[in-house]
Amino acid sequence: MKEALRQIYENMGISREVYDFGERLWESLKDRWQEIDAISEYNQLKVIGAMQKNRVSEACLLGTTGYGYNDLGRETLEKVYADIFHTEDALVRPQITCGTHALALALMSNLRPGDELLSPVGKPYDTLEEVIGIRPSRGSLKEYGITYRQVDLHPDGSFNYEEIRKAIHEKTKLVTIQRSKGYQTRPTLSVNKIGELISFIKEVKPDVICMVDNCYGEFTEEIEPSDVGADLVVGSLIKNPGGGLAPIGGYLAGKKECIENAACRLTSPGLGREVGASLQALGSFYQGLFLAPSVTANAMKSAIFAANIYERLGFAVVPNGTEQRHDIIQAVTFGAPEGVIAFCEGIQQAAPVDGHVTPEPWDMPGYDSPVIMAAGAFVSGSSIELSADGPIKPPYAVYFQGGLTWQHGKFGIMKTLQKLVEKGVILKDFDTQNL
Ligand SMILES: *Cc1c(COP(=O)(O)O)cnc(C)c1O
Repeated sequence: MKEALRQIYENMGISREVYDFGERLWESLKDRWQEIDAISEYNQLKVIGAMQKNRVSEACLLGTTGYGYNDLGRETLEKVYADIFHTEDALVRPQITCGTHALALALMSNLRPGDELLSPVGKPYDTLEEVIGIRPSRGSLKEYGITYRQVDLHPDGSFNYEEIRKAIHEKTKLVTIQRSKGYQTRPTLSVNKIGELISFIKEVKPDVICMVDNCYGEFTEEIEPSDVGADLVVGSLIKNPGGGLAPIGGYLAGKKECIENAACRLTSPGLGREVGASLQALGSFYQGLFLAPSVTANAMKSAIFAANIYERLGFAVVPNGTEQRHDIIQAVTFGAPEGVIAFCEGIQQAAPVDGHVTPEPWDMPGYDSPVIMAAGAFVSGSSIELSADGPIKPPYAVYFQGGLTWQHGKFGIMKTLQKLVEKGVILKDFDTQNL
């Protein structure tokens, strides 16, 4: 079998040097794989338990059309989500178009003119800048008279409790905490860290709503932010909880009051959660959720493999090869554009869809430098599938995430290394120097 594997990797364009190097590293990470398998095993049972408790049946997988009154599958799925996140309620809909929309919905429905929003963890995800009105934008919270305040993290990534206390006042209605680092260099927050922050905030002001942007974090740990005091957790179904199968959608899970507010904003006051046909989406929502713990584990293994490969070869990686993971994103800093480009080409060449195309940097709207993106996804734009992107500007870092199967993630990372060697970014004799 060993030789057959080497052979098929070679047939797929991976040299024996790259394969042997990668394979030895993979083998050396066995303890990590066990740890991650244990988390996914725990979460798999959590998901099955929630499905059984709510008596998910074949009828739930069928969709409704038109107004979508009495949509059994939709209502049951929302109960399943509420049980997984241990919240009073949840809203899980194909009408929520993406993660940004889910977050905007949570904010716009739970804030009123005169209220203030606080981010105690620094600048939120790029797309939220326009939602909040940090960058002027049509329809922003700012246009509705909702103000925003931000407290940055200390340089070492810890919370600035003193400033956070000062930033909370009578108008502070909602606090938004982003779990994942997104495309920043700060560390991703563990659920326990988020819990410490929420406890502090609730001590200062007990009735403030604590919301967590849970994107990329779901199922990476045994607990979720809603287990440590978050009133609302929000995310995208084309990331972790959709398990790679959901073709669209977002979720909110939390306090009944917060969810009802969101439902009335998503559809209409008076209609709330009673409408919203699920069309043909439910089967993939359920099956994707069922697969999500395992898919998330595969993405984490892919990220850890990448971290260890590139750390061994002398590049800066965040998180590093040994630290605990709280999301699925891996950053690798190459320090030169060639590295970013070769890495993305490697990921693309490993894709089952569009594996034959070559990604190129382009001037994407909203970015101040060209960006290169690699994705060969079954669901367009899905970043739980193996994908990578990087802005072509210093420090020339690439952000890598996803991998529905660890086998694909492993192959993808081997491909990136192969590309980097072929293009001369990494010396041909890398192996002898390092392992
Ligand atoms: C992806 C992401 C979002 C936005 O989600 P989209 O689906 O791309 O709109 C928001 N916050 C974080 C931390 C994310 O990773």
